[in-house]
Amino acid sequence: MLTTSLDLDKDGVQKGYIDVPVSLDLSAWSNQRVPIYSFKNAQGPSLLLLGGAHGDEFEAPVVLSNLANGGIDAANIHGQVIIVPALNLPAVMNGSRLSPLDGGNMNRAFPGNPRGSATERIADFVSRELISRADVVLDLHSGGRSLRFLPSTIVPMQTTETATGEIRALAAAFDAPLTVILREPQVETMIDTEVELQGKRILATELGGSGTLSQETLLVTRKGIDGVMRHMGLVAGPDNCDTTQCSKTVLVDGFHHYVYADDAGIFEPLAGLGDRVREGDAVGRLHLVDRAETAPVAVKARTTGFLFCTAGQGLVRRGDCISVIGHPVD
Ligand SMILES: [Zn+2]
Repeated sequence: MLTTSLDLDKDGVQKGYIDVPVSLDLSAWSNQRVPIYSFKNAQGPSLLLLGGAHGDEFEAPVVLSNLANGGIDAANIHGQVIIVPALNLPAVMNGSRLSPLDGGNMNRAFPGNPRGSATERIADFVSRELISRADVVLDLHSGGRSLRFLPSTIVPMQTTETATGEIRALAAAFDAPLTVILREPQVETMIDTEVELQGKRILATELGGSGTLSQETLLVTRKGIDGVMRHMGLVAGPDNCDTTQCSKTVLVDGFHHYVYADDAGIFEPLAGLGDRVREGDAVGRLHLVDRAETAPVAVKARTTGFLFCTAGQGLVRRGDCISVIGHPVD
């Protein structure tokens, strides 16, 4: 079972590590040390800020690094903020979605396993030591190399409407350009399920993508975290937005929202992020550049709504997700 040098029950500012012993070809008794920060002052709500679950999503590690290094005034915190900027550190240091140590996908490894691979043991530590202390988990993702998003908050649909409503209120406080209410297609091993099982609330994000980052997406991220901290009462001040009506909201609740590549080729987008598309419209064309006899193939939307996610890189392969379309929600 993993441990940390921090005493997470103690008031004040603490900076340290989650220690992850691993035995590698080139390093028999290695310790992969994952940075963790705690800012605690008096009794109050508790927020867990996670970045770097996937190693090619860069907004969260940068914004959380800034927050942890001078961006939080501990004296003005009423409660606790725990920050892990690069949760799957081996993946982050490799610039890859999955861990190079074990091929582990952090957001398919929950609730984790204390006797498992490095990724599974980190997930176990998060479930056992961090989610258990949090009222709210903010799991900050971006599109990574293969996807690109309109900067969005993701509200995972909960088993009760009350819980979903509380998360929608967190999304409103974050106030990203888009809110996506999502019924995840592969939820069993995601952190979302573990947080819900522990009776806590989780808001996720998809802030950009294509394996890069921008000033615009960094600003959305920082402003959003500040809004959530005010909404929770961790710091004084009003929400960015105090109703769920502020940003545009869409619903994604089935496979018909997703468009997949049927072949390997270069994807030519014909619709942009935020565009309204109709079922049957071509959202792009797939160029099968290895076949002289095959003309470019239209890739069609399977539902009507707003395009908020598209291929993050030019070359796509059969089975890749290349568009996601959400239904507008009032
Ligand atoms: Zn991710």
